[in-house]
Amino acid sequence: MKGIGDKRILVLLISGLLIGGFLVTSLASYFVSRESLREAVIRNELPLTSDNIYSEIQKDLIQPILISSVMASDTFMRNWVLGGEVDPIHMIQYLREIKQSYNAFTSFFVSEKTRIYYHAEGILKTVHQEEPRDEWYFRVKQMTAPYEINVDPDMANQDAMTIFINYRVFDYDNKFIGATGVGLTVNAVRSLIDDYQNRFGRTVYFTDATGRIVLIGGGNAVPEDHVEQRGGLGALMTQWSRQETRSLEYDYQGHKRLLNVRFIPELDWFLLVEKDAEGDLAGIRKALYVNILICIAITGLVLFATWLTITRFQRRLEAMATTDRLTGLASRHAYDILMDQAIRDARRFGQPLTIVMLDVDHFKSINDGFGHVAGDRVLCGVANAMRASLRSSDIICRWGGEEFLVALRNCDLANAERIAETVRQTVAQADFTFEGRIIPATVSIGVAKLEPEEDAEGLISRADAALYAAKQAGRNCVRSTLEAPETA
Ligand code: GH3
Ligand code: MG
Ligand code: MG
Repeated sequence: MKGIGDKRILVLLISGLLIGGFLVTSLASYFVSRESLREAVIRNELPLTSDNIYSEIQKDLIQPILISSVMASDTFMRNWVLGGEVDPIHMIQYLREIKQSYNAFTSFFVSEKTRIYYHAEGILKTVHQEEPRDEWYFRVKQMTAPYEINVDPDMANQDAMTIFINYRVFDYDNKFIGATGVGLTVNAVRSLIDDYQNRFGRTVYFTDATGRIVLIGGGNAVPEDHVEQRGGLGALMTQWSRQETRSLEYDYQGHKRLLNVRFIPELDWFLLVEKDAEGDLAGIRKALYVNILICIAITGLVLFATWLTITRFQRRLEAMATTDRLTGLASRHAYDILMDQAIRDARRFGQPLTIVMLDVDHFKSINDGFGHVAGDRVLCGVANAMRASLRSSDIICRWGGEEFLVALRNCDLANAERIAETVRQTVAQADFTFEGRIIPATVSIGVAKLEPEEDAEGLISRADAALYAAKQAGRNCVRSTLEAPETA
């Protein structure tokens, strides 16, 4: 029982060590990969996308700014305005030409004197200070910079979201006479956004300074109108900076999202590039599961092999402990167990139990005269003689050096004496030989029958006493306890 307990502890220990070790390394490598992946997304991927989009926007804005500046200093425009805006068709034609040759989305001129809004298709309207949609014009009129970039719906084009370059126009005396410029659609930016969205799974969108979402790609990638509605993003707005890009993280619909926020001063917008933090983890998570499976398989195999080895080793140890190597008889250790069992059985079934104790006579002189190996040969011979004279159910054991003990189940004293006598005679008549020399050997035997209330120890000591009596009686004879003298 103790052996099995120890074995369990060993197996548990090995499994603990293996599983623990595997888990620690697998999890550690998983967390390291996850962290480095996250770092790569935050430090490189998102900022790079943001940079690319920003430089693309800047590139797209350069030409329109240049055209608008040419328009603002164009002599025809200034002369026509100063000449009293006669025949608007001239101005309209001029604007149409600009629009077509530079492939602009729209082109316009608003006169300070008449407040008329001219564009490539004709006269749109007259601007008014009180009209919120015309607010841009009065801002441009007041500003000190030569131009501004403004994003507004274009009234002349079904309110399509348009980036306007608003340039101030002066007469030859440096007097403000109106605003001109071109507008471009955000389609180019939008298709760039779509590209990033489709190819790399990144979500790209723009908000104005208040957090209103002003531009998204196709496919309704961002269904909200304002960052306040977009999970934990609204709360992060305080961390947005106009000076530097920020890497942030927020929860959205139960997912962690990694975010890069950059201010686009030309548009007064924020550019947001974000990505699901878990998206790229699928690969390394799969690797983790495979690792764990391999770990379980290896642990199982190692445990199986360990269990087999231990079991085999244990069996061998048990066999070694219970069998005497020289004679192949039961060992004294095994005998203790077998003897207890035999006594219990005898009591239970009310059967007689007798033991026979046997000792080789003058064995010391056999050893001395023929050598130790010859002595061993005699011991084996005696063991064989006993086996030959006994039933297989009888328990024979090598008790000590040249002493043997036999328990005869369901056998009374008279029978036991007869059996003992047979053994004695068999040994006495046997010719044990060693290197061609015959070794004469005899045995003395003591017999004792189990008494009620007697334990194994008492029984054996009485058999020992009977054996002593046999020795006293001149050896090569059998004595039982009944015949043992009362006093030595
Ligand atoms: P007695 O007739 O009184 O029994 O005399 P004895 O010489 O047999 O008794 P004693 O107990 O003095 O000697 C036993 C000897 O058996 C001593 C010991 O060296 C020897 N012996 C014990 N075990 C072995 C063994 O496995 N092989 C051999 N060859 N000798 C053994
Ligand atoms: Mg002895
Ligand atoms: Mg002896």
